[in-house]
Amino acid sequence: MTVVVEAKNLRQVYKIRRGMFREPAQLQAVGGVSFSIEAGKTLAVVGESGCGKSTLARMVALIEKPTEGSLVLDGTDAVQTPAADRRRLRQAVQLVFQNPYGSLNPRKKISAVLEDPLAINTDLAAPERAERARAMLAQVGLRPEYAARYPHMFSGGQRQRIAIARALMLNPKLLVADEPVSALDVSIQAQVLNLLADLQAQFQLAFLFISHDLAVVRHIAHDVLVMYLGHVMEQGPKDKLFARPLHPYTNALLASTPGVGARSVQRIVLKGELPSPLNPPSGCVFSSRCPYALAQCKAERPLPRPVDGRLVACHFAEQFLESGFPASPAVDNASLPG
Ligand code: SF4
Repeated sequence: MTVVVEAKNLRQVYKIRRGMFREPAQLQAVGGVSFSIEAGKTLAVVGESGCGKSTLARMVALIEKPTEGSLVLDGTDAVQTPAADRRRLRQAVQLVFQNPYGSLNPRKKISAVLEDPLAINTDLAAPERAERARAMLAQVGLRPEYAARYPHMFSGGQRQRIAIARALMLNPKLLVADEPVSALDVSIQAQVLNLLADLQAQFQLAFLFISHDLAVVRHIAHDVLVMYLGHVMEQGPKDKLFARPLHPYTNALLASTPGVGARSVQRIVLKGELPSPLNPPSGCVFSSRCPYALAQCKAERPLPRPVDGRLVACHFAEQFLESGFPASPAVDNASLPG
C-alpha cells in the first residue's frame, strides 16, 4: 500500500506573552507525535478538548509549520519544501471543517464554491469547471442542479456534503477532517460518515479524522491515536484498542462512551480537569488523573513502546495486558509527590 503521509516527531510549541517585563511562557501543544497513513485508510485522533488534536490537524494540513519534526506528504518533504512547490502539496491535502454553516461563503452560489479551487489551481475552461462541479455534487449525493443555489438553502447535512465536494475538487490524496460530523444531528451523522467511507473506497483517500466521539471513531477508523496534553498515550489498530485498551486514559475514554469497547474490561472513571498545558504534570502527563499512578510515574515520563501490537506510553502496560486493570487503584494519586 502507498503511504500518503508520514509524520515523525511532530512538535508544536507556542510562545505566550505574559506582559512587558516577563519572559514569554512556552506552551507545548503537540509534543512529538509520529504516524503514517496509507491510501484508503483512516487514522482517527481522539482526546479531550485541549489535547492538541486540532493543532496536529493544522500542521498536517500545512496551515501551521511545526516547530520540530518531519512531515512527508505524497512523497515530498512538506516542512522543507520551498514556497513555490507548496502549492502542489496544498492540493494534495484538503480540509473539512466542523461547522458546515460557517465554512461556506453565504454570498457565493454552490457552483462558485466548487469551481473556485479549479479556477485558481488549474487551466480548465469555464464549461469544464462547471461540468466537474455538477459531477462532484452527484458524487456526494446531491442533485447537479443545486449548483445554482446558495448555501442558506441547504440543511446542515447537505452543507457538509457540499464542503466535502469542495475538498475533493482538486483530487487530493489526504483529507483532514476536524470533527466533521459533530455539529450534525445523530441521524445525519451516519449518512455523512457512510458517504466519507464510500468516497474513501472510490478514490483511495487517506483520512486524518479528528474526533472526541468514540462512537464515530469506531464507525470510520482503521487506526486510532489517543492524545493527552499533546502526547501520544496509545496508538494502534482500532480493533485492538477498542477490544482491550492498555493505557488507563484510553480505558477512561471508552468508559465514558456508552456502547463502545469490550464489557469485560474493568472501567476507569476519569476525574478532575485536564491540567494546563502551560504547567503539565511531571513524569507521565496523565499522572494527576490516573488512578494507578505510582511514584515512578511522577519521576519518569513513559515513552510510547510496542506492547501487544500497538504503542503504549505507560510504565505498567505489560501488567495491564497480563492481569487487566485492577478494580481498586494501587494508590490514591492525590498522595503522590507533586
Ligand atoms: Fe498511569 Fe503511571 Fe501509566 Fe501514567 S505511567 S498512565 S500515571 S500508571
